[in-house]
Amino acid sequence: MIGDKINRRKKTILIVIIVSALLISYLHYSTHTNVHSLHNIFTELYYLPLVLGALAFGFRGAVLTYLFVSILYVPYIIINWTNDMAFIANKLLHALFSGSIALLAGYFVDREKTLREKTAKDRYLAGLGQAAAAIVHDLKNPIISISGFARRIREGKGNVESASEVIMNSAEDMKVIVHDVLDFARPIKMRLADTDIGALIMKAHHYCKEKAEHKGVTLSIDLAVNSVLIPLDRSHIERALVNLINNAIEASDEGDSIDIRSECDERNIYIKIRDRGAGMDRETLENIFIPFYTKKSYGTGLGMAIARKIVEGHKGSIHVESREKQGTEVDLELPL
Ligand code: ADP
Ligand code: MG
Repeated sequence: MIGDKINRRKKTILIVIIVSALLISYLHYSTHTNVHSLHNIFTELYYLPLVLGALAFGFRGAVLTYLFVSILYVPYIIINWTNDMAFIANKLLHALFSGSIALLAGYFVDREKTLREKTAKDRYLAGLGQAAAAIVHDLKNPIISISGFARRIREGKGNVESASEVIMNSAEDMKVIVHDVLDFARPIKMRLADTDIGALIMKAHHYCKEKAEHKGVTLSIDLAVNSVLIPLDRSHIERALVNLINNAIEASDEGDSIDIRSECDERNIYIKIRDRGAGMDRETLENIFIPFYTKKSYGTGLGMAIARKIVEGHKGSIHVESREKQGTEVDLELPL
């Protein structure tokens, strides 16, 4: 969709360039003899399409626009050719000067673009390295637990039941991390099936309950939509909800409460997750959907990016409002 928008914008600019060059040529040709000062102004107006072509399409755009404008401009010189040196010098200088300006502008636009791409790539690679370190760090703890408790079972030490509980929980933690990375790395395949959205929210709530209780945070649920069936990929939407609720829990302090609400109208279903936790400053709010962006020492920075990928994969949208020290509200909108 964004690609379509960009293409449409480029087409519009192209039309503006062609139409303005034709119009300027018309004014330029038609004012030649009678209104001299206007004629000079119209000559200078050729800079407009030239600069526009360079700004919008870079160096190649500048060359092509220059050729196009020259094709329109040269017949004028031929028609009005005199052996007057001043006329020839004036026209030659004008052609040279406008060409140089257009090509220079195009060159700088291309250079700026390359630089921007390189900075974005560098930032992405730095994030990738940081994320790899975070992932390895996150996986290390459950691996240590699993091997430690497995050894205790083999040596017949301690309680087998509690040891296997720790092993299962650690494996579950590892599964979450691996899923996050995989979900982010590959295109998400949607398997849509009519789903009771209320039941799905309850399932996500159930999944996060233990983490909330462990932190002393209350999860309260208010579902105005019960038994509303919508075509969803259950596991993905559950995953997005779990990511968002987990973030709310992680931002909250002991004693805080988190509200999970849902409502619907005839077109959409709305799910709101509101916490009264740490909130976000402006910079964080602007970056939360950037993959690998995290402010947590233990975070992968993929939770929000994945949640958005999933919600947009369902043609829905996700919107976040947050105030530092006051809390955050994440609103999901999914079409019915
Ligand atoms: P992670 O949780 O691994 O850091 P996310 O993509 O889930 O990655 O979140 C990115 C960042 O957005 C978090 O590190 C945090 O700073 C911020 N964030 C997300 N949700 C909330 C929230 N509910 N309250 C405060 N900050 C949040
Ligand atoms: Mg998260």
